[in-house]
Amino acid sequence: MKNSSFIPRSSSLVSLVGAGPGDPKLLTLRGREVLEAADVVFYDALIGEELLKWARKDAEKIFVGKRAGAHALTQDEINALLIEKAREGKTICRLKGGDPFVFGRGGEEALACVENEIPFEIVPGISSAIAAPAYAGIPVTHRADGNFTGATSFAVVTGHTKTDDAPPENLPTADTLIFLMGVRALPKIVAQLMAAGRDGSTPVALVRWGTTSEQEVVVGTLETIEGEVERAGLKPPALIIVGEVVRLREKLSWFDNRKFKPLLGQTIVVTRAREQASGLVVQLEKLGARVLQCPTIRIEELSASEYSRLDDAIQKLSDFDWVVFTSTNGVEKFWQRLRVLERDARALGRNKIAAIGPATQQALEARGIHPDFVPESSISESVAAGLLERDAQRVLIVRALEGREALQKTLEAGGAQALIAACYRNAPDLSNAENVRV
Ligand code: SAH
Repeated sequence: MKNSSFIPRSSSLVSLVGAGPGDPKLLTLRGREVLEAADVVFYDALIGEELLKWARKDAEKIFVGKRAGAHALTQDEINALLIEKAREGKTICRLKGGDPFVFGRGGEEALACVENEIPFEIVPGISSAIAAPAYAGIPVTHRADGNFTGATSFAVVTGHTKTDDAPPENLPTADTLIFLMGVRALPKIVAQLMAAGRDGSTPVALVRWGTTSEQEVVVGTLETIEGEVERAGLKPPALIIVGEVVRLREKLSWFDNRKFKPLLGQTIVVTRAREQASGLVVQLEKLGARVLQCPTIRIEELSASEYSRLDDAIQKLSDFDWVVFTSTNGVEKFWQRLRVLERDARALGRNKIAAIGPATQQALEARGIHPDFVPESSISESVAAGLLERDAQRVLIVRALEGREALQKTLEAGGAQALIAACYRNAPDLSNAENVRV
């Protein structure tokens, strides 16, 4: 052993980072810290591309996994590349699905670092072995109670030994068995378990793409599971859970439970401008939808001459009895313009304020203005009717350059004067179309 003389060659560091099981939010805080700082990021097939957004823009991102049709690097080639980059003095984040030391070959990469006297660290990750069962509502251990014998141990086993699709000859005797890389070996796993004396009625579940919006779960027993998997057409990557605990899914399923997530299995494209989309995206994801963001409009500043009407109106706000804000962007840009004109919220001191929609109301309240009128319906005609009922006579409408004239027309038809002042532009944006191309 030569580790007594283990002196780092340079500032280089190889971090073997567990990326978690699929849901990008299951990356650890330390993992994200390392990913954000790295000069080079190595990643492979089970890593959600979404995680890479945490990497530095100028970081070198190297794909070393298997992907349909593409040549995969051998483990030796990956090790050699890691060492090569480390020798250049780089900090390296080697992202690995789940936990690096659970069937992740992290040990081999760490040994290569030791042999080459490259400093390394291990950042554990949440292994799919426990996370996929958890997201399927299957506790891997459970205390015995009246109608349940309990599970006091679990074992994680490979379904792929060397180059063979088969589990190891001697299977552990734990109450719950979790097989990784085992879909193709399912018939052999079932046969081996039955030969070892497990009852044919023992419950079995397969979880595919656990923790992601594509999670699929197939449940059966040792006797029926092969047929169920075939019927469902379930393919890797999936893991297999064998044991009485699988029965608990009936009561504990949550992540893929339509009762809580009515939009499960649906993909929804959100076309709102990115600045405004986040609230909607969070809500849709909570309801179980897979959300693709594809903003089709971008909020743009106006040219100086296009601001002139707004600027005039701001100088003479006392000429209006009502000011109507139609969007949060309108509020934000109006305030920016106030600042440019060296004014502030007090300029609106004499006006009554209407906000169309609760988000616009919130934007105003955040600026210390409590709107006098928030119409129940955002349809221009009913907004106008509400304003007229409140005796509006001279109305300033703050909004985007483009838009319907209905609010103005209806107010005028009701005898009021209405002026539209634009404070931003909705520009078409096609730059995200790739995100939704199938
Ligand atoms: N180091 C990883 C395991 C790598 S082996 C970890 O700790 O999770 C790859 C196997 O893990 C796959 O064949 C599959 O059996 C399992 N696996 C990985 N991600 C999974 C997921 N999201 N859902 C179900 N199984 C998964």
